[in-house]
Amino acid sequence: MSHDDHHGGGPAGADDHEGSALSEMDLRVRALESLLVEKGYVDPAALDILIETYEHKVGPHNGARVVARAWSDPAYKQWLLDDATAAIASLGYTGRQGEHLVALENTPAVHNMVVCTLCSCYPWPVLGLPPVWYKAAPYRSRAVIDPRGVLKEFGFELPADVEIRVWDSTAEVRYLVLPMRPPGTEGMGEDALAALVTRDSMIGTGLPNGLGYPNQEHI
Ligand code: FE
Repeated sequence: MSHDDHHGGGPAGADDHEGSALSEMDLRVRALESLLVEKGYVDPAALDILIETYEHKVGPHNGARVVARAWSDPAYKQWLLDDATAAIASLGYTGRQGEHLVALENTPAVHNMVVCTLCSCYPWPVLGLPPVWYKAAPYRSRAVIDPRGVLKEFGFELPADVEIRVWDSTAEVRYLVLPMRPPGTEGMGEDALAALVTRDSMIGTGLPNGLGYPNQEHI
């Protein structure tokens, strides 16, 4: 299922992630897969490799490496903010849904949060496949209407004096939040730093481990 289709597909596409439509979608995907295999257009083994890749090999650990590098290397951080696609590709993270990446820097004054209001556009090469809540209607609508309320539900209360900016992903542009580096991590190498970076801290619905605000609960 191409995410790009959602943005050109009208309201029907936007409903694909809803409740009962999910199982219907699942059936349609299976039927389509069977047909493609039967006709010899796709190799089931190749499909398995693709799914395995996005479920296990590509994931938030990639994004965590990017963040850890940015925290450790000011020149890399600047490159990431200027041209995230190239800076991320330099670490080997390229591919579908990552053709145009933009990094958003969190600061003591600004907190960034990412949503796809139309469907589930997400930076696959650095975060893997989106979590269920990211694709669900409540997050997609409320992230825009009441972002601070959404953060509270994630167990994370943003101080009132911190501005919140909500970014709507599209088929063309995918965002990666660069969270603030937690205090007391000055002596840490990139491996240790990467271990502090949570998936949700790169979506903006959470914080890296050790960053001062209450840690979110996992959902
Ligand atoms: Fe989308």
